[in-house]
Amino acid sequence: MRISGIDAQPGLALSADVVVVGTGPGGASVAAKLARAGRTVVMVEAGSLVPASEMTQRESEMMRKLYYEGGLRTSENGGMGVLHGRAVGGSSVVNYLDCFRTPPRLLRDWQRRFGLDELTPEKMAPRFEAIEDVLHVRKLDPANLNKNNDKLRIGTERLGWKGDTFHRNAYQCYGSGFCDLGCSYNAKQSAAITYVPLATQHGATLLTEARVDRVETTGSRASGVKGTLLGADRQPRGEFRVTADVVVVSGGAIHTPYLLLSSGIDDPSGQLGENFYTHPGTPIVGYFPDERIANYEGIKQGYYIGEFSWVLHEHPMDVLIEGIGAPPALTSSILPGLGAQRQDDFRRYNHYAAAGLLLRDYVPGRIRVGKGRPLIEATLAPSDAQRLRQSAERAAEAWLAAGATMALTAHNKLTYFRSTRDFRKLDDVGWGPGEIALVCFHQMGTARMGSRRDRSVVSPTGRMWAYENLYVADASVFPTSTGVNPQETVYALADVVGDGILDETRSGASP
Ligand SMILES: Cc1cc2nc3c(=O)[nH]c(=O)nc-3n(C[C@H](O)[C@H](O)[C@H](O)COP(=O)(O)OP(=O)(O)OC[C@H]3O[C@@H](n4cnc5c(N)ncnc54)[C@H](O)[C@@H]3O)c2cc1C
Repeated sequence: MRISGIDAQPGLALSADVVVVGTGPGGASVAAKLARAGRTVVMVEAGSLVPASEMTQRESEMMRKLYYEGGLRTSENGGMGVLHGRAVGGSSVVNYLDCFRTPPRLLRDWQRRFGLDELTPEKMAPRFEAIEDVLHVRKLDPANLNKNNDKLRIGTERLGWKGDTFHRNAYQCYGSGFCDLGCSYNAKQSAAITYVPLATQHGATLLTEARVDRVETTGSRASGVKGTLLGADRQPRGEFRVTADVVVVSGGAIHTPYLLLSSGIDDPSGQLGENFYTHPGTPIVGYFPDERIANYEGIKQGYYIGEFSWVLHEHPMDVLIEGIGAPPALTSSILPGLGAQRQDDFRRYNHYAAAGLLLRDYVPGRIRVGKGRPLIEATLAPSDAQRLRQSAERAAEAWLAAGATMALTAHNKLTYFRSTRDFRKLDDVGWGPGEIALVCFHQMGTARMGSRRDRSVVSPTGRMWAYENLYVADASVFPTSTGVNPQETVYALADVVGDGILDETRSGASP
């Protein structure tokens, strides 16, 4: 059953065994698992259910519809753009479909440092297999690389580096190139068309356009949530409440700590909202004056350079370099420069190939509670900036090796290289707010999972330590950043949390 906040009666009151806040990969996965196990489930989502027929491929319309703050959200210091999906399916509706199993080296690191002994590669393997089945994950055939990604492949191979095509959660993908505006063909196997329907097919209720404002508790027990029904204009229409035996918060790594902190939830570790990891990224552009690259056409993310990844290949730079394309407004919101510089950029737009740096950040930011909104504190630490610089050089080197006449960074001060000797220009530019365009596509880590209540926000089963029945299931529970695109890890850890809930709580009664 689906109820929309747009036409629900103000004062709506629902009850269930389990209420799940948020329907991104984390929320959708846990809701499906619990519904299939016979629990009554209500999923509450602030965004809308946007069907393929309403994905118009128009940037101004879809960014407003599918992203928080129309895709223009930034960190408090303005130094980092933060792209976060708001819809049934969360960011999985706007993501680029790349899928990585959590690398074994990372799982072992989490076991060693955070006591997550159950997360062995062997125990996780069946979870990944089941998820890949539901999401239809397949490796991209190199023949389907678009020009942009194929150039990255050529550069990588000429340099003798390790690289590969991505695994993607797509079914009958025609490469329309509008992944970040939602898929008009339902080819992208997002949570909205996989796990959410699985949950509703097993009796779960989906309440959309409904923002949860508070998790309600009595002593060490959560009793449900209350919030605001939103109109078509996203203005408040009235209140709603869901009472439940189990509360699962899956609002993503920004909104989960924001909701829990603003609800006054007890966290013995004091780490709720801390450890905000972002995979700070920036585009490195290759200029091919004699070839039409059109990075926005075809499958935008198809190929990555893995050579410099610690989680994949034990390289200390700890970065992935991924081919990436972006439509004009998004490009414009990322690239620095105004006036003549911007005009020049757009004259060359069709000849620009782009690679995004996905840095595994070691120095996290944090999420705090502002007046009616989360405050995002994220700054690139000097040690992380040092590795970002090294990886910018490697991406530029790949473009030059592929035949680009010039490679450019996204620094505010125009910075370009015609050969690797020009890399010394990077001595003269900074990496702080306003100096370089940084973007966060992946929000992680603000409700860290671990085996000790003094050092982690949630237990190895995702339970808030001070509560019997309050859980977190989304990218917030990551103990660190992953260094690979995170969606499959979100699905997998939510699956672990789902099993924890089934073990620790009973159906239809208070645990
Ligand atoms: C443009 C883009 C491209 C990306 N590309 C990739 C990729 O190729 N591969 C990959 O692995 N990852 C990618 N990601 C990241 C990936 O999609 C996320 O890591 C993943 O979706 C996170 O899942 P989640 O469950 O933690 O939260 P989210 O997906 O953020 O979902 C949370 C949901 O909860 C809802 N919510 C929050 N607070 C409330 C509240 N108070 N009340 C009700 N609802 C609430 C939100 O509206 C949202 O829909 C990309 C992300 C973006 C933005």
